[in-house]
Amino acid sequence: MREFAYARPASLAEAAAAFAGGGEAAFIAGGHTLLPAMKSRLRMPDTIVDLGALPGLTAIARDGDTLWIGALTTHAAVATSPEVAAAIPGLARLAGQIGDPQVRNAGTIGGVLANNDPAADYPSAALALKAVIETDRGAHDADDYFQGMFATALADGEIITRIGFAVPRAAAYAKFRHPASRYALVGVFVAAYADGVRVAVTGAGPGVFRWAEAEAALTADFRAEAVAGMALDSGDLNSDIHASAEYRGHLAGVMLADAVRAAG
Ligand SMILES: Cc1cc2nc3c(=O)[nH]c(=O)nc-3n(C[C@H](O)[C@H](O)[C@H](O)COP(=O)(O)OP(=O)(O)OC[C@H]3O[C@@H](n4cnc5c(N)ncnc54)[C@H](O)[C@@H]3O)c2cc1C
Repeated sequence: MREFAYARPASLAEAAAAFAGGGEAAFIAGGHTLLPAMKSRLRMPDTIVDLGALPGLTAIARDGDTLWIGALTTHAAVATSPEVAAAIPGLARLAGQIGDPQVRNAGTIGGVLANNDPAADYPSAALALKAVIETDRGAHDADDYFQGMFATALADGEIITRIGFAVPRAAAYAKFRHPASRYALVGVFVAAYADGVRVAVTGAGPGVFRWAEAEAALTADFRAEAVAGMALDSGDLNSDIHASAEYRGHLAGVMLADAVRAAG
């Protein structure tokens, strides 16, 4: 591995300064994406800025109709949080399906949302649950935040501090996991609100996206029967050695119905 400088700041201002002064710099949270990328030389930072000592970024709290989760909260902490289970049980179950125990105990929700892997689980929850991604510089609505494969609205050096999820009437996630990585071959998050149902799909395409046809059908009738036989058009979907675009399109319909049944 290449040599690099290491900083472990104690405040957001120090973190921003360490990033700005560090040549090509990278933040590290759980390290479960950054370190493999460094080992394979896809990332070669001059400076690593460790966010692990920043105070207050692991809090989970409900404030009115919003559930706030700190960016450094691990997947395991989300999966076992009584606050998450009470407010959005489907989100706790999603976190419990990420990777394996090692990944869940180190990986963080902020790391997943900053990385925006097209097969990651949390982006679908953030998009369906009207999330607000708060940073040291402001806030991004999920509808504008996800910008395709590994691309987000974050500026260089911007730090996610916490994520606010709008508490729904009902919500659930269903994923068909890749048997080796456990990433989503296709995952569908469904969230029902007073003003309509939101459906977000991950794993199927080059980035997370909402499924308008499913949202319209479920807003009219929130039952699995209302989306029976529905499938995604394969035109824009991924096709690789794991699954063809047609298979992913069909699978999305199956996961959609499973998620609606789980939410009901
Ligand atoms: C074997 C394995 C299986 C996995 N399976 C799954 C799975 O099933 N589903 C799934 O969703 N994910 C899966 N992952 C990914 C895992 O969830 C990672 O934890 C996640 O992608 C990155 O989180 P992290 O905290 O480890 O981030 P890091 O690796 O530390 O950082 C990732 C990127 O985000 C940036 N970053 C981190 N935190 C912040 C922040 N607060 N603000 C701004 N930028 C930040 C870093 O600079 C870096 O670019 C898997 C990973 C592995 C190794």
